Amino acid sequence: MNVGVISVQGAVPEHLLMSQLALDELGKKGQAIAVRRLDELRSVDCLIIPGGESTTISKLLRKFQLFDEIVDMGRNGTPIMGTCAGCVLLAKKGGEQAEKTGTELLSLMDMAVDRNAFGRQRESFEASLTVNGLESPFPGIFIRAPLITKVWGDCQVLSRHQGEAVMARQDNLLALSFHPELTTDPRMHQLLFSLV
Ligand code: GLN
Repeated sequence: MNVGVISVQGAVPEHLLMSQLALDELGKKGQAIAVRRLDELRSVDCLIIPGGESTTISKLLRKFQLFDEIVDMGRNGTPIMGTCAGCVLLAKKGGEQAEKTGTELLSLMDMAVDRNAFGRQRESFEASLTVNGLESPFPGIFIRAPLITKVWGDCQVLSRHQGEAVMARQDNLLALSFHPELTTDPRMHQLLFSLV
C-alpha cells in the first residue's frame, strides 16, 4: 500500500512517520511517501492532507497542480484523511474566516467548518475523545483547531468535544480537527488504511 502525504506545507514528517508506524504495526507491506508532484499523487492508494495553514496549502495545491486531481480522487473513492487545516480544506463551507481570506476549498465533504474556532486563549489543548468505532478514547491534540459546525447529506459525525463535532466521515473521506500524527496512537491512520 502506498500512503501519500501532501507535502507542500505543514506537519508532513510527523504524518510520514506515523503512517509508517501504523503500517508496521498492522504488519502491512507499504510505504509512506511525500507527495508534491502529480505522478506521485497518482501513485498512492490513500492520501493525507496535513495540518498547517489552510490558505497556504490551498494556494500551493493550485501552484503544484495537485488541486483538481485530489478532488477527482476524493470523488472517485480514494480514501483521504484531512487533519486540522486538511479538515478545513475537505469541507464545502469554510465559514467567515475562509471567505475573508478567499481560501479555495476542495469541497469534498458535506460539512461546514469554523476555522480557529477555539479563539486565542485556548488555541492549543489536549482532550481525550470518544470516537465511534474505537474501543478506547483517542488522545486529541488541538492546535488552532477548526470545529465542524454542521454536517448534512452522507456526512456523519464520529466524535465530539464538549458537544461540538471534531471528527466526521463521509464514505472514503475522514476529517479530523485534531492532530493524530502528534500522538503515539496509530489508530486514525489505520482507520484510513482500512478504507483502501
Ligand atoms: N488554523 C489553521 C487553519 O485554519 C489550522 C491549524 C492547524 O492545522 N494546526 O488553516
